[in-house]
Amino acid sequence: MTIKRFFLMLLLAASIVTFGAEKLYCGNCRKRITGNYINFGNIKICSEQCLQAVLPKCSVCNQPMRSGFIANGRRFCSEKCFETTLPHCSVCNKVCRDSFTTFMNKIVCSDTCLNSLRPRCMICNSLLNGYHAVFLPNGDLFFCDRCGELPRCSGCSRPTKDYTTLPDGRKLCNDKRCRNSLVMDAKLAGSIFDSVRKRLVKQFGFKGDHPIPVYLVDLDGLRQVEPDMPEGVCGMIHNTYDENHNLVDSSIYIVMGYSRDDVADTCAHELAHDDMLRRFPFIDDLKIIEGYAEYVAYNYNQHYRKFYLNRRKLYNMDPIYGDGFREVQAFASRYGEKAMNKFFEKRNQRVGKQVLKELLAEQQNSGNEAASAPGTEEQSASDAAPEITDAAVPVDDSDE
Ligand SMILES: [Zn+2]
Ligand SMILES: [Zn+2]
Ligand SMILES: [Zn+2]
Ligand SMILES: [Zn+2]
Ligand SMILES: [Zn+2]
Ligand SMILES: [Zn+2]
Repeated sequence: MTIKRFFLMLLLAASIVTFGAEKLYCGNCRKRITGNYINFGNIKICSEQCLQAVLPKCSVCNQPMRSGFIANGRRFCSEKCFETTLPHCSVCNKVCRDSFTTFMNKIVCSDTCLNSLRPRCMICNSLLNGYHAVFLPNGDLFFCDRCGELPRCSGCSRPTKDYTTLPDGRKLCNDKRCRNSLVMDAKLAGSIFDSVRKRLVKQFGFKGDHPIPVYLVDLDGLRQVEPDMPEGVCGMIHNTYDENHNLVDSSIYIVMGYSRDDVADTCAHELAHDDMLRRFPFIDDLKIIEGYAEYVAYNYNQHYRKFYLNRRKLYNMDPIYGDGFREVQAFASRYGEKAMNKFFEKRNQRVGKQVLKELLAEQQNSGNEAASAPGTEEQSASDAAPEITDAAVPVDDSDE
């Protein structure tokens, strides 16, 4: 940035002159001048007051200027007024006279100030190039690639060197605040579930009257019901079906050791599965199923202003959960939720017809040859492990 300045010399011509013989009139107030007057350029001014009125004004403080300069096409009475129009460093607040840099929409004067804006690793304090982010209720945290590889606390998802390993293999950091925020008590999980359900009945018109038992388990408990559950899973819905593939009941499993916000998010997600299963039981596209569940949880979080949780969804790079969420979200915001439900309904009918056709064919086949056993692909998607009927995992009441 360069600054052009031209000094104003116009006032040097103003001088006090004694009254002469001819009739004179003030160039400002038009009154006849009977005493001393001031020469201001070519005009005569009767008084100090009138002089103030004809003097040019500073473009910043608007005061009459007896001296000053023009820079960047504007008049200034002083350096001080001029500086207020120059960019200021957003870090040290110094005026940037000659040059400045912008970083993330902020003006900075120097490399030192620039570096103070660049995020640093929360653990080793090195400047970040590539980084891992953790979104937390009281602000986002960033870690360098190396520190991001440290074990993650399953409660707050921060990488940490100071942790305790749970019997199921997960790690919890030893931060007291993190520990106090975790749901370790089945009663608490149940009451969070109830309030989330109430909210979703109101917000999305979910059915709220059929019983859904809620179990708080650890990861091992979850794996007793669904053996292949990966480490990051916070909860799941488990459905049981009768021999005609009709839904008998659903229960929800919540993994203990997550924060209340996480548990609420999980409840909203699993309740959305329940809703979809009851309204559109034939939808078998995982991207739609998980995308819708994330969409519902997102809107639930949005209602309670849990934006940090939603940033995790927005930046989730998972091709099923992340992409699915973004696609459902984009559809709903472009065409509305009514259109979204219509789309689901169409999809449900189309897959439903297909399933019915294949079921009939299967029955005819089994009438002909008794030994045809390979399950149809549709079934594997719509009945997740129907053979486990009794939810045998007890509610864990321990509050460590
Ligand atoms: Zn006058
Ligand atoms: Zn001024
Ligand atoms: Zn600076
Ligand atoms: Zn680091
Ligand atoms: Zn933690
Ligand atoms: Zn899900």
